Amino acid sequence: MLQKIGIETLKQVTKRYARKQNRWVKNRFLSRPGPSVPPIYGLEVSDVSKWEESVLEPALGIVQCFIQGHKPTAAPIKMPYNETENKRSYHTCDFCDRIIIGDREWAAHIKSKSHLYQLKKRRRLDSDAVNTVESQRISPDRDKELKEKGSPGQSDQELKPNI
Ligand SMILES: [Zn+2]
Repeated sequence: MLQKIGIETLKQVTKRYARKQNRWVKNRFLSRPGPSVPPIYGLEVSDVSKWEESVLEPALGIVQCFIQGHKPTAAPIKMPYNETENKRSYHTCDFCDRIIIGDREWAAHIKSKSHLYQLKKRRRLDSDAVNTVESQRISPDRDKELKEKGSPGQSDQELKPNI
């Protein structure tokens, strides 16, 4: 009995972990393609009885190709991207003093740790200088600007369930 419960629990946590891994791969690699992202290969895993020929062998084949330095015959997974999204759009981040190319990259940037850190730092400096008329006048505008910049991030979120 205890063994049975143990096996069931193990299956559950393994499934949960696999879902988590899939989500991570989708978010980290597939929804943010770029030069630093390696190609992702999909394998047909729905039939356990065909594990060797449809999962193990193709996977080993792809790894083998990488080791030998030539391109695998299998095509990597491509993310269907939003047609309205501009891949070459030009954004300047005043906080980080950086130029970001592409809507998706920009949406990722404004949610990134380094950007949020710069933002926090800037806000703190502003509140220190609150006695000057200048900063009091600038602050509301800056907040408004942030909200506008936040909107590409929201559309990026809406994209994700389609993946
Ligand atoms: Zn930034």
